[in-house]
Order: sequence, then structure tokens, then C-alpha cells
Amino acid sequence: MAEQEFDYDLFVIGAGSGGVRASRIAASHGARVAVAEEYRVGGTCVIRGCVPKKLLVYGSHFAEELQDAANYGWTVEKMSFDWPTLRDAVLKDVDRLNTAYTSTLENNKVERFLERATVTGPNTVRLGGSGREISARYILVATGAWPVMPDFPGNEHCITSNEVFHLENLPKRVVISGAGYIAMEFAGIFNALGCHVTVVNRSETILRGYDESLRDRLLQITMARGIEYKFNCPFEKVEKQADGSLQVFLAGQPDPLAADIVLVATGRLPKTDGLGLETAGIELGAQGEIPVDDHGRTACDSIYAVGDVTNRVQLTPIAIREGHAFADRVFGGKDTSVSYDCIPSAVFSQPPLAGVGLTESQARQAFGGNIKVYSSDFRPMKNIFGHRPERGLYKMIVEATSERVLGIHMIGPEAPEILQAAAIAVKAGLTKADFDATVALHPSMAEELVLMR
Ligand code: NDP
Repeated sequence: MAEQEFDYDLFVIGAGSGGVRASRIAASHGARVAVAEEYRVGGTCVIRGCVPKKLLVYGSHFAEELQDAANYGWTVEKMSFDWPTLRDAVLKDVDRLNTAYTSTLENNKVERFLERATVTGPNTVRLGGSGREISARYILVATGAWPVMPDFPGNEHCITSNEVFHLENLPKRVVISGAGYIAMEFAGIFNALGCHVTVVNRSETILRGYDESLRDRLLQITMARGIEYKFNCPFEKVEKQADGSLQVFLAGQPDPLAADIVLVATGRLPKTDGLGLETAGIELGAQGEIPVDDHGRTACDSIYAVGDVTNRVQLTPIAIREGHAFADRVFGGKDTSVSYDCIPSAVFSQPPLAGVGLTESQARQAFGGNIKVYSSDFRPMKNIFGHRPERGLYKMIVEATSERVLGIHMIGPEAPEILQAAAIAVKAGLTKADFDATVALHPSMAEELVLMR
């Protein structure tokens, strides 16, 4: 098929973080671009992920701020919380962002099809609603990932992070399955809002992959705040009672847990079901992911994939970078690629934790004995004044010989805000001496970064 015979230069499936960025950049390079989206423009991050979650974290944090207010001389009378007000305000903001993302596509002359699209060959897609067949020189799959609902009796009574933003009422008792990002973030939100929270995991680990000392600290603090944990307890079944409440039966536990909602947060898998990739000779990986090379190219030369659907790093900024690099490379003639080194990440638990680079155990594996660990275990001024015993913990892992910083990990108020700046230093390959040579910014929590011993 000659180039001009294609309906579009690029057809993007999925208008989430990666798809929207790729569409916009490709269009700015002069490509004729169309995007299909079966739900709402913005994707997981904007519609039912990072953004609404962070707003709920902010909303729930007022509990602590209002409690502390008395120490600063404020009298707050008749304090109460109304879940529907917060929920609706958050959902309104999601609408705003949905409109903003839609405008971005419109302003860049990207044509939108608000329906499902499936691949029917190396250069063709079919629209679900109309059945219309469209051709494109390139196809980009950016369909993201979807929460996993493990198979157990009664799982139809459970919800995932897709539904949690829409709860009619604030539950009194929340049982959360899983102890990863989503579980720990929502455990913090519901706990701060006054719900009784039980986190249940199949292993005895929370936040696998994060530095062990930080995970221990989070566990201690959240237990002191009233979150309960059940480890090594796979779900057996969930039963709905006549009054609408739920009973959660766990393996090895004689008594079921009573709950008003059960949130299942046991990972997210690539959303590739029924996408038709086999028609273009693309075989999916074991987790349903689309295998790609360093530049996002699949086994079919004209089809690329970016973001969670490739199951490499499930983080929004990575999907955005991959989408951008794809568009610059394919339509802008630029030799760009994405670096997966030193990706900072954070868990918006309460308190939050954040990290970049190697954890202590990863560094020990990679460098044997040739590492040094510096740390600062401190009680933030805010917590002293708030009569909260909770302590922050910052850790710096350094290669002993060169003193190059291999990783920084922190738990404490505002840790993600502080870590972003520290990540620049780690990415740039700075040494402990560079941190030591920097004057502390006093009084701040961030100053602990240059005071570690
Ligand atoms: P995670 O991968 O973070 O955690 C999954 C949890 O579920 C783990 O505790 C795991 O246990 C457990 N688990 C996994 N499979 C099963 C199963 N079959 N049955 C029972 N338990 C199981 O997943 P999330 O759903 O929390 O988040 C998905 C992804 O979304 C994250 O990986 C992250 O990339 C992204 N995300 C990022 C956020 C951020 O950047 N702040 C916020 C929210 C999500 P074990 O560890 O014991 O194996």
C-alpha cells in the first residue's frame, strides 16, 4: 500500500498518558493522527489513578492537620467529614482533566474516535461501534493495564481501584487484599478518614521492591495508627450477608473478617484482551503484555506499544516518556530513547515513602561488601509539635570506593516532594562528598539529605 493511501500516518489505540503524549507530539511533527478511546480521555492516571488518589490523600490528611491545629492555637468547632462532598469534588476535577486532555487532542488536530478499536492487520484497525475499517502507516497500542481480580468465590462482591472512587458512602470497615502501592495508599486514606482498615496479604511483605528499613518503618507507624495486618493469608471466599455487609474468609484463620467493602489491589495486568494483535503476527507475553524492543517496536514493524501494556515499568511518567520518544523517533527523525535507570518512585501512604536507585539489599547483591549505608533517623519538627512519636528515616546507599550515590530512600512527611530533587543528584552520578559539600537548608526535613552519617 503506498504511503498516501493510508487514512492516517498514526492510529493510536488508547488515550491515556502514553497515547495522548504520542498523539500530540506526532501531530506536532506534521503527522495525521487519530486516536481511539473506549472510555474517557486521560487514562488510568487521570481518570481512576494517580490524580484522584492524590486528591483523596490530600482530603484525608486534613484529619491530622485539624488535630494539630489546636497546638497552634486554632479552635475548630464541630469538625465533621462528608465523603460525598470529597468524592464529588474529586470526580469534578477528573471531568476537568478529561476536558483538558480532550482539548489537547483537538488543539493538535488529532481526530478522536470514542469507541473501541481492534487491530485487524499490520496497518489496519476496526472501530467497535461502527465497524469501520481504518488504515494507518503506524499503529501505536497504548491501552494500559487493568486491575487483576483473582479467582475466589464471592469475588463479585469485591471492588478494585476502578470502583473505589465512586463509593456511595464512607465504609466503616475496609478489608484490602494486597500490600502493594494501591493497597497501602488506600489503607492510609481510609484509616485517616476514620475507617477500620485491615490489610491482608498472601505473603508477609508489604511494598515488595522498596528498601526494607523503610517498609518496616511504614508497618510500625501504620500499625500504631490503627491499621491491622494479616500476613500469609490468602483469600478463601467472600460472602455477602443479608444486611449487605461482607464476611471475608481467610486461609488458616478460624474467624472471618467483617467488612463493608473489600478492595482487591493485587496488581494490574496489560489490557490486551481481544485487541487482535495476532492478526499482525504479534504474540503476547506470559502476562498478556506486548513484547517490544528498546524503542517500543513490536514484532510487526508498523506497530508500536508504550506504557503499561508493555508491562515494563507501570508508572505514568514512563508511559509519557515512551510515547514522546516514539513520536520523536518515528515522526520527528530524532534519535531519542528512554532511560530506565534511576527511576524515582513514591508510595503516597501516610506517611509517604519514596526511593530512587538501588535499595540496600540490591546494592549488596550488585556490589558485594563494597557499599556504605548512611542514614538519618529523625523526628520531624512537625511531629514533635504535634505530639506524634513518628520518626522519619532517610537512607543513602553509596559505592564504598568511589562514594558514588547508588540509591536514596526516604519515609516521612513530604518524602516524594523531597526525593524528586535528590533523584537528579543520583541520576547525575554525584557522590556523598557532593551532598556533604552542600549547605543544609535549615530548618527543613530535606536538610537531612546533606547531614546523613
Ligand atoms: P502491586 O504490584 O504494587 O502489589 C500487588 C500486591 O498484591 C502485592 O502485595 C502482592 O503480594 C499481592 N498479589 C499479587 N498477586 C496476587 C494474587 N494473585 N493473589 C493475592 N495477592 C496477590 O500492585 P497494585 O495493584 O498495588 O498496583 C499496580 C501497579 O500500579 C503498581 O505496580 C504500580 O506500578 C502502579 N501504581 C503506582 C502508584 C504510584 O506510583 N504511587 C500508585 C498506584 C499504583 P506479594 O508482594 O506478596 O507478592
